[in-house]
Amino acid sequence: TLMATSPAQPPAALSAAELARIRADFPLLKRRLRGDRPMVYLDSAATSQKPDPVLDAEQDFYLVRNAAVHRGAHQLAQEATEAFEGARATVAELIGAQPGEIVWTSGATATINLVTYAISNATAGRGGQAARRFALQPGDEIVVTEAEHHANLVPWQELAARTGAVLRWIPVGEDGRVTVEDADRIITERTRVVAFTHVSNVTGAITDTAALVRAARSVGALVLIDACQSVPHLPVNVSELGADFVAFSAHKMLGPTGIGALWGRAELLAAMPPVTTGGSMVEVVTMTEATYAPPPQRFEAGTQPVAQAIGFGAAAQYLSHLGMDAVAGHERTITRLLLDAVAAVPGVRVIGPTDPRDRIAVVSFVVDGVHAHDVGQYLDDAGVLVRVGHHCAQPLHRRFGVAATTRASASVYTDEADVAAFADALSGVRKFFG
Ligand code: PLP
Repeated sequence: TLMATSPAQPPAALSAAELARIRADFPLLKRRLRGDRPMVYLDSAATSQKPDPVLDAEQDFYLVRNAAVHRGAHQLAQEATEAFEGARATVAELIGAQPGEIVWTSGATATINLVTYAISNATAGRGGQAARRFALQPGDEIVVTEAEHHANLVPWQELAARTGAVLRWIPVGEDGRVTVEDADRIITERTRVVAFTHVSNVTGAITDTAALVRAARSVGALVLIDACQSVPHLPVNVSELGADFVAFSAHKMLGPTGIGALWGRAELLAAMPPVTTGGSMVEVVTMTEATYAPPPQRFEAGTQPVAQAIGFGAAAQYLSHLGMDAVAGHERTITRLLLDAVAAVPGVRVIGPTDPRDRIAVVSFVVDGVHAHDVGQYLDDAGVLVRVGHHCAQPLHRRFGVAATTRASASVYTDEADVAAFADALSGVRKFFG
């Protein structure tokens, strides 16, 4: 069935047996809700469920390895440090990066704030000569897109306000895709930073990253890619992306909450001033000044979320083991099924691309005459869990003239039965509220 829509090599999918084994790894998928109905979890874009290897890795850390990392001379501290740094290497490997290019943060929101505050510090003259490449002047431009999650918009608004830079954006077309054909008009010699989402958490649309990176490179702008919704679902290789910074969160990719990552190009991280300061990020400290450790430690002040990092590593390993081509192949099948399910119901309009090749399995839609919150409630009564609202992307909703959408989103564990239950419940919505 993938062949039908895919002229090129179809991505490898998962066999039914593999999918059943995957589902068995996720204890929460066995939950029953609403009078013992099977739970149908279609809210993975908000946060994914966690497999046993992730839960076990966190628990194992506390059960047998808990100690402060990097500091202790004792055996336990060594084991904790190995597990912590091993997780960094595993996460790095998933995206084709080097361990030293991975900075732990508390999530993608923190990652993007880290980069924007580092730019502020450089603008204020911190970080010396090396950091001057990050400094902004009044009138410099920061370019984002109309598709951004608030996490990749508000920090740039704030940075613009602090530095006198001007925020510009690339619009979203009727099909929900970022209009990269506008890039050369909006990205100009004044552009210093281009920050955009790899995959929209509303439309599921995959951005043509190559076009935006090319436009940004041609004017020497820094590029940050919000990969929150791509790293969990598509093969992502940072060398192929060609960005300077990539942000992502563990909890959307089968890992724990409270941990995410910044991938940064090594020479840029080496030149970037720190943001949060204190212990663990320094080398020599006197009563009046401090010298800073090299990255990634320079950006990891204070005690880190060690157990979460180890859980993150286990999640990355779980995905690597499945293979991101297989994950993407399976999810493309689910995308098509979700789109078909929504298209089958009269009066339901999808916001976003209709071709599964242009998007992931994040399907937001509007039901004629029924508020998204009512749709969500009706589906919830059927045990089908979706998200309703603006999904932290108000400008994108405004673009489509709606205040809220209903969003069904999948992950590697989503199966055809989930989509069938969703389709069945959705078909009753308008009758019920009509
Ligand atoms: N960017 C996108 C595209 C997202 O979907 C999300 C998650 O909601 C974020 C950023 C923010 O991630 P977090 O809440 O984990 O910091």
